[in-house]
Amino acid sequence: MEQNPPPPFPSPEELKSKIAEFMKTNFGDRVQFATVTTPQPGEASTGEEKPAKIDKEKFVFNFLPRDIKAHLDRFVIKQDEAKKALAIAVCDHYNHAKYVAELEEKNDARAHETEYAKQNVILVGPTGVGKTYLIKHVAELIGVPFVKSDATKFSETGYVGGDVEDLVRELVHKADGDVDLAQFGIIYIDEVDKIASASNLAGRDVSGRGVQTTLLKLMEETEVPLRSMQDIQAQLQAAFEFQRKGKSKRETINTRHILFVVSGAFEKLKELVGRRVRQSQIGFSADPVRVMDNQLFQFVTTQDFVEYGFEPEFIGRLPVRVVCEELAAEDLFDILKFSEGSLLRQYERAFRAYGIEISFEDDALHLLADAAAKEKTGARGLLTVFEKLFRDFKYHLAGSGLTQLRVTVDLVREPKRVLERLLAEGHKQEAQMLEESARAFAEKFKAEHKIDIVFDESARKRLVERAQAERMTMPELCAHLFKDFQFGLSLIHKNTGRNQFVLNAAAVDAPDKFLSDLVVQSFPK
Ligand code: ADP
Repeated sequence: MEQNPPPPFPSPEELKSKIAEFMKTNFGDRVQFATVTTPQPGEASTGEEKPAKIDKEKFVFNFLPRDIKAHLDRFVIKQDEAKKALAIAVCDHYNHAKYVAELEEKNDARAHETEYAKQNVILVGPTGVGKTYLIKHVAELIGVPFVKSDATKFSETGYVGGDVEDLVRELVHKADGDVDLAQFGIIYIDEVDKIASASNLAGRDVSGRGVQTTLLKLMEETEVPLRSMQDIQAQLQAAFEFQRKGKSKRETINTRHILFVVSGAFEKLKELVGRRVRQSQIGFSADPVRVMDNQLFQFVTTQDFVEYGFEPEFIGRLPVRVVCEELAAEDLFDILKFSEGSLLRQYERAFRAYGIEISFEDDALHLLADAAAKEKTGARGLLTVFEKLFRDFKYHLAGSGLTQLRVTVDLVREPKRVLERLLAEGHKQEAQMLEESARAFAEKFKAEHKIDIVFDESARKRLVERAQAERMTMPELCAHLFKDFQFGLSLIHKNTGRNQFVLNAAAVDAPDKFLSDLVVQSFPK
């Protein structure tokens, strides 16, 4: 780590002495400053300062691989091999953690001597095919916190070690400070292929290897301080806590039971392996390899990853290797149609918020899936295609009076034309409803005041136009326009005995003038 530039903050030692000095000058001897130290493995868990809730809510794991696979099947389409391998790895991992925990209760020493090769996972696959989605749902099912990050982030920032450890602290944060739960969390690091130390790429070499080494330490077993040395606020908090209670909370988290999943597209891997397989295997297609599928992945060896630019120790810590295959247009259709996390649910909710029930014809979904497949971004292509297609529909149909939207092949092929037609239709439907509502106002007026008002055609037209333009409901608009009519018309009724009045467009445009003219006329000359 010596090769990294100095951190932007003072060093932890400097920071500590500065804070201590600050405390002393401001608070005198009443305050002591707590230092964060890293205990030896095994030391941390013996502390009696665990937060109270941990004792009550112990992490329990009681799943079979097939339970996990069944859960994943509800959300993730295809990727059967990955689901299976992941389900087994997760069960082995947490069963072992359970076993160690039980041993620890009986005989602490033996628990730590138990030999175990951790089932960390490497997921190979292009973007948007469900890698993150798989891990997220596994974590949700078994109830452990889950943190995702990109490996490229670590090489960009100067302070490699600190950043990688932040992932572990983030787990604690996700577990609401429950350290005992966080130590069973899942850390998912994407784009690990970018930290391969390719000697032909100048500059990458050193930092890539550096990140691999720090990650390796984390994947094996290490104690990570709960408060980052870089985080001044956390350090101050520790100091205040110490001042208040005379002791500070448990200070480190062990990474022994954290499950690590790393992933990447490993673009060149398929060429590398494809070429070798083609040379050695008769009968394997002579075409250049375009996708890494499960069939080809069988031939991937540790040596391939080493050639790719990984330290043998690093890749050795990732014994479970699976491939997430590319998604074809039919798979994208299945995702829309059958995944519980389908984008269609999201669109249904979005349109329902505007009072519109949206529904989809299968043929239309096929067209959308085909378009999404062309984006070459896996299921993410669906988002792009949907957003583009439905943006204008959302904008114009919201508040248009339309209550149903059927997504047909026509709509997907000629969205502009269909939208215009729908808008005209929606307008017509709304106009009809508004006219109906104006008629209801007149009836209510008659029932309440025993005076008959009739809107002629020109009045009805103007009322509808104004209600639509001013976005008012018809009862609101009529109540506002004709607020003095009850009084005025009753007066006329008294003067002349007349009890039916026909209102025209002029009455809608200038109701006060219309009414006063009528009143004036009603007085005997
Ligand atoms: P990546 O493989 O790059 O990690 P993600 O898992 O983040 O891709 O996928 C992005 C989104 O696409 C997910 O949130 C999910 O909605 C959808 N998705 C991707 N793959 C699948 C799949 N196989 N089945 C169902 N949905 C998927």
